[in-house]
Amino acid sequence: MPIDATLPYDDTNIFARILRGELPCNKVYEDDHVLAFHDINPAAPTHILVIPKGAYVSWDDFSANGSEAEIAAFVRAVGKIARDEGLVDHGYRVLANTGGNAGQEVPHLHVHIFGGQPLGPMLSR
Ligand code: 5GP
Repeated sequence: MPIDATLPYDDTNIFARILRGELPCNKVYEDDHVLAFHDINPAAPTHILVIPKGAYVSWDDFSANGSEAEIAAFVRAVGKIARDEGLVDHGYRVLANTGGNAGQEVPHLHVHIFGGQPLGPMLSR
């Protein structure tokens, strides 16, 4: 069920539980502000989720309320992970589903990194 991205942060969401160590993840990268791990249901040979450690519901929330340090760390991490995973030469896709029309399921900001094969059209028609 897609979420309403305007709701307040709910710290029972699954990524908050991963951040607290209550649930496992297959970690790819971590720094002071960012955690990245493999998607549990990959849609491409490489499918990584990158999340801020701060409590942000969505891209909308993070872009409006994240600190300069958090936003810089997040953008740097997405690029570094893609480089470290060897995705740059053949190309990759970064996606942030935001709210209902985009089908956002988990109410903690996450960016998907997809790669490892041709990724097809940007949107299904
Ligand atoms: P959204 O549709 O919100 O943009 O993406 C949510 C993503 O989180 C989906 O791709 C889904 O497979 C992934 N996901 C949901 N629960 C878990 C989990 O417990 N662990 C991991 N690693 N990924 C999850």
